[in-house]
Amino acid sequence: MGYKDQLRTSRRVLMGPGPSDVHPRVLQAMAMPLVGHLDPEFVTIMDEIKEMVQLTFQTKNNLTFVVSAPGSAGMETCLVNLLEPGDEAIICVHGVFGGRMADIAGRCGATVTTVEAPWGEAINPQQVKDALKGKKPKLVAIVHAETSTGVLQPLEEISQIVKESGALFVVDAVTSYCGTPLKVDEWGIDAIYSGTQKCLSAPPGLSPVSFSERAVKALDNRKTKVQSWFLDLSMVKNYWAGAKRTYHHTAPVSAMYALREAYRIVLEEGLEKRYARHIANHQLLKRELEALGFEFVVKEGFRLPMLNAVKLPEGVDDAAVRARLLNEYNIEVGGGLGQFAGKIWRVGLMGESSQPNYVHALAAALKEILK
Ligand SMILES: *Cc1c(COP(=O)(O)O)cnc(C)c1O
Repeated sequence: MGYKDQLRTSRRVLMGPGPSDVHPRVLQAMAMPLVGHLDPEFVTIMDEIKEMVQLTFQTKNNLTFVVSAPGSAGMETCLVNLLEPGDEAIICVHGVFGGRMADIAGRCGATVTTVEAPWGEAINPQQVKDALKGKKPKLVAIVHAETSTGVLQPLEEISQIVKESGALFVVDAVTSYCGTPLKVDEWGIDAIYSGTQKCLSAPPGLSPVSFSERAVKALDNRKTKVQSWFLDLSMVKNYWAGAKRTYHHTAPVSAMYALREAYRIVLEEGLEKRYARHIANHQLLKRELEALGFEFVVKEGFRLPMLNAVKLPEGVDDAAVRARLLNEYNIEVGGGLGQFAGKIWRVGLMGESSQPNYVHALAAALKEILK
């Protein structure tokens, strides 16, 4: 196939760590005619999206918006705006994405202390308590759903500890958002970011973000300019939350149409029902995979329903089997990242991809391949 041929992509069954499948309604929304990004119609669309971001984050935060770039840019938005050179930051690292946060915080000129747990385990609140002794960090950051390991990190107790220290609590909710309970206001989260291509089931490339009043105060008290022009919230704020919308950058109009529709689907289903669906399909997958000899990496009680990290049965060739799944069955599952590369699979059941027929399709294909 060359560029002279019309684009034709395969119809994959997306069961990796994201992107997940999107509903046809979402694809259809993207085909709507473009309007200008300052057209009153588009301004209304932005207002509607903001309202739906607030509903799904379960927050009343006014500074709630969508970054025109993927989840990593949401991560960077939170850290570059809250950290200044010389600030202290405590970053919890129990997988690839915590490591990415520590890297970014260091690039902001912050003095970074990491709190680490072995891959496949959660951070213990006591570790955060110990790290805070004698310190006055600006923020403590942690990943809610570590997509590289399959760990669901409990947040409430850590949030309490962070609050008592006076630090801001920053959370990565890229994979957990819209797939497992997440209550931004009730849990005292000060800055949070997510992505669109995981349990929200919209195309990749956007990042919902929200800042609490305390976090906004920290922005107002900065002594130095944010080193990123694009992500500087003092300007983005006027675009998303200002009384009068002024040009900042050209919003990805079609992607926002898709996002609007994906949110409508989430809210039609209802958050509680959506969380329950993710658990039910996780349990179905668990039965099927364990019967085939796969073992879960994470101990029960800390497993993500939307991202199943499993050790391969003895003698199974990671790359060869994943290639057959893709080429012969059109099924994508994720391989291991970092220290888990070649050793585990990451089977995603995110959003639209969290369905019994997906689980059965994977189990049937594996039975054929492994027999
Ligand atoms: C996917 C992911 C990210 C990064 O999102 P991108 O859209 O790939 O930039 C960050 N954190 C976690 C936990 C993720 O799963």
